[in-house]
Amino acid sequence: MYHANHLAEKLRAASLGAENSLFLHNHQTGEEVSYKAFFANAERMAQALVDAGVKPGDRVAVQAPKTQAMLELYVATVLAGGVFLPLNTAYTASEITYFLTDAKPWIFVCDPKCEDELSTVAKDAGVAQVLTIGADEGGSLPERRDAAAPGFTPAPRGPDDLAAILYTSGTTGRSKGAMLTHRALASNAQTLKDSWHFSADDVLIHALPIFHTHGLFVATNITLLAGSSCIFMSKFDADDILGYMPDATVLMGVPTFYVRLLETEGLGKASVNMRLFVSGSAPLLAETHDHWRDVTGHAILERYGMTETNMNTSNPYDGDRRAGTVGFPLPGVEVIVTDPATGAPLPQGEIGVLEVRGPNVFAGYWKMPDKTAEELRDNGFFITGDLGRIDTDGYVHIVGRGKDLIISGGYNIYPKEIELVIDDLPGVVESAVIGVPHKDFGEAVLAVIVAQDGVEISAKDVSNMIKDNLARFKQPKRIEFVQALPRNAMGKVQKNVLREAYDGVFQ
Ligand code: ATP
Ligand code: MG
Repeated sequence: MYHANHLAEKLRAASLGAENSLFLHNHQTGEEVSYKAFFANAERMAQALVDAGVKPGDRVAVQAPKTQAMLELYVATVLAGGVFLPLNTAYTASEITYFLTDAKPWIFVCDPKCEDELSTVAKDAGVAQVLTIGADEGGSLPERRDAAAPGFTPAPRGPDDLAAILYTSGTTGRSKGAMLTHRALASNAQTLKDSWHFSADDVLIHALPIFHTHGLFVATNITLLAGSSCIFMSKFDADDILGYMPDATVLMGVPTFYVRLLETEGLGKASVNMRLFVSGSAPLLAETHDHWRDVTGHAILERYGMTETNMNTSNPYDGDRRAGTVGFPLPGVEVIVTDPATGAPLPQGEIGVLEVRGPNVFAGYWKMPDKTAEELRDNGFFITGDLGRIDTDGYVHIVGRGKDLIISGGYNIYPKEIELVIDDLPGVVESAVIGVPHKDFGEAVLAVIVAQDGVEISAKDVSNMIKDNLARFKQPKRIEFVQALPRNAMGKVQKNVLREAYDGVFQ
């Protein structure tokens, strides 16, 4: 008998029917791994964690490449009653020091290749045990491939116990540890599986990182829950994905996946038998959405989520998937729009702060009670910090992040509106519009533009384009051309870095 709110047990129980069927096709090794073999490995690892002293509630932090063993470690940690805490593979040793000192895990697991450097870092941060995990290199955690189940008894965990702590991407400032309960993760996975009609017949192309909510919880949990198969790729590769499409049914990606795939030859033919393309983590341009539909005949399903809440909204599986929107709140999830100044609900259609309530919402930020109190209301609503509106048909539109809103001369200016116009100018690769302190207007609009190699774009061309399309007060007071926009480890544009760089230019 399993507990419906015990994440790992729920995933295990759900996939039992698929025990002898294929769970993973490992792109790296070419290996085919059954559910039975996967869970047997995970149970062995769970036993090894317990033997290493992990007790219910202990954090198990990991920074390692995306391998099958790392996925097994996720399930093993949850089975052992631990709290899984994956760290971005792009983080440097000094960043790891910060996260380990903050999270105080009992165990830190790393790639054997980094053991020398990181075990010192971990010991200095007070971590009791350092273990290693690797695909080809072996490692100190068990990684046997025979399918004999050792019969591990999962640690009892309740719905409100933590299953994971996931650090946010750090786009708006220092990353925060979001505490995620068994209930939040198990219920969201169930909702997504039902909403997107996942079944044992599905084959997911999994090319997302597994240190982030999108690849770890959305993609992996749904697959396990549905007893589906997945093609497990250590990283995104457009040609490899194209090659897999005829044998797959679903792709989950970030917008850049779709942009890159559109640059390949033969996409239309390769994608004929796919049933679903999902995009999230960043805004999908309407242009990409339309181009994809023209080439493949499929409408990409865009959804909206975040580390703190897993998934909030989704375009409909059956129904009109509208470009430029993130669809409707998922069943059981409420989304409201409130006034940024007063917190009061706004009338239908107005732009304000998106707030979310539901079983998917996190339990607070790790060791940040003040920040938690600021963003998580007593009535259960989480203040996302994203700005958006809900149209008359109920579709949620995201217009940007609250921290990026520009208030110039008393006008509210949404950077995205200006960026969309600039990006339409031939020769522009991308742009970021920010507000910079200005002595007369409070803030003034500044546009930072990346042009295609060898293409000359003048500031005048940009100004004319904006003049033709937008109100005068939205005109940038200054236009800068750069080689590349600053991005964080998740590839998201860091506007705070730009704001710092141009601070003072209007003083
Ligand atoms: P931090 O909170 O540390 O600043 P972050 O918010 O980028 O970083 P994540 O939790 O990875 O960290 O990202 C969630 C955010 O990503 C959302 O709040 C939203 O701004 C953005 N996002 C996610 N999906 C979409 C989407 N479909 N369209 C637009 N934005 C999206
Ligand atoms: Mg955030």
